[in-house]
Amino acid sequence: MKQSRIKMNVLDSVKRQSNFEEVACGFTLDESKLEASRCLDCKNPRCVDACPVHIDIPKFIKEILSNDIENAYFTLYNDNILPAICGRVCPQEKQCEGACILNVKGESVSIGALERYLGDYALSNDLVKEETISNNGIKIAVVGSGPSGISNAASMRRLGYDVTVYEALHEYGGVLKYGIPDFRLPKTIVEQEINKVKDLGVKFEKNVLIGKSITIDQLKEDYDYKAVFIGSGAGLPSALNIAGENFSGVYYANEFLTRVNLMKSRDFPHNPTPVKIGSNVAVVGGGNVAMDAARTAKRLGAKNVFILYRRDMESLPARLEEIHHAIEEDIDFRLLRNPVEFIGENYIVKRVKCEIMELGEKDSSGRRRPMPTGNYITFDIDSCIISIGQKPNPILKKSTLDLETDKWGRIVVNDFQTSIPGVFAGGDVVSGAATVILAMGAGKDASIYMDKYIKNLQ
Ligand code: FAD
Ligand code: SF4
Repeated sequence: MKQSRIKMNVLDSVKRQSNFEEVACGFTLDESKLEASRCLDCKNPRCVDACPVHIDIPKFIKEILSNDIENAYFTLYNDNILPAICGRVCPQEKQCEGACILNVKGESVSIGALERYLGDYALSNDLVKEETISNNGIKIAVVGSGPSGISNAASMRRLGYDVTVYEALHEYGGVLKYGIPDFRLPKTIVEQEINKVKDLGVKFEKNVLIGKSITIDQLKEDYDYKAVFIGSGAGLPSALNIAGENFSGVYYANEFLTRVNLMKSRDFPHNPTPVKIGSNVAVVGGGNVAMDAARTAKRLGAKNVFILYRRDMESLPARLEEIHHAIEEDIDFRLLRNPVEFIGENYIVKRVKCEIMELGEKDSSGRRRPMPTGNYITFDIDSCIISIGQKPNPILKKSTLDLETDKWGRIVVNDFQTSIPGVFAGGDVVSGAATVILAMGAGKDASIYMDKYIKNLQ
């Protein structure tokens, strides 16, 4: 009989709404082996090409099947230094699993869950890949400790460079720490994965805002860094630009999630940093950030949390698993609704007025374009969390005038090289808000060009 896709256990959908515990429980070894047994070992495995860092997926699956878990982990770790993280947050259905041949007629192999199993196995068994790393004494600076910066730092260190990562915040990990909540990605996992990069010999400095504390020019001239990688992400929220957006009770998702995750406002009154959201919370947007904001609002005690999204259910850009978990947690989806005005009393938000949309022809994103109908609907709210996208923060550009950026503030690069010789960039600061694995891939690929650049200087 054909083995069907193994379903991962999850926490009870009601009980979990009152805590921040991780919802998806992961596979056991037996479940991993059963799931691995579903792989057809295709001659031309399309999953490998569909993974942005080209992990040898069939190889690690075969190693799981033959109970060689350590080597399966090493196969994975070769191409991905943060497997326990990617296994949890990659949009697998659009990448490796989307390309799996089993997906055509049924359900793909659960590649992400297998990756998570191996990543977690390595963390809980202190499994470390022995690596001989030389020291060439050449100094490299990395700006930002998100996935792109971490991946670039690890790759440059493995090439023998003396690497220091500068992080503006008081904790390392970028969005993995301040954005994605614990119920999806426990912070202990992020810390353990980053510790592996520290063990390679990468140095980390926190509370350093490059562009203010130290400029890019100073890094090169006064600190003697031979090359700099900018992986400063896209942390500046996009605004709706509608009336009432400055009322009390209207938040941007980045601010809201940072306060809950990093400033620990969820532990109020133990931590004196509350976020007041009330009972009726609207969340604007349909991506992972919106799902995280909505599910976090539920966990902070909101009774009615609803998503306002201007397209339909099929167009939601969030990971399928997040949408599914949000539905289980009673998040209401009010679709084809586009906020046009916040209505308040004494500068406190009370209602949100939305235009009812309909779908027109497909646009450049391949999704049907939302069209205004001229009809409106108003919802009572105590707060609203806006999650419609992020752009790069302009701080670096302001202090580095010769750094070329485009009209959205993204750094312009050619083979990861910016307009300043020796200064490279990758991740969200170049692509705009994207994904963890794309940022990691950029950090890794940039290291090849940085190494070439430095070798040409000698
Ligand atoms: P970031 O992760 O943003 O890291 C940039 C780092 O640079 C930050 O730590 C920042 O503090 C630091 N920094 C900025 N400026 C400076 C400076 N001047 N000096 C020093 N340090 C600086 N992707 C997925 O694949 N799956 C998901 O499920 C998913 N969920 C998400 C949920 C949320 C809430 C958000 C916000 C994003 C999510 N993403 C997800 C997107 C993904 O997290 C990002 O694409 C990825 O983190 C980008 O990595 P990065 O290294 O480019 O930037
Ligand atoms: Fe799939 Fe992401 Fe793993 Fe690549 S890193 S195989 S895309 S889960």
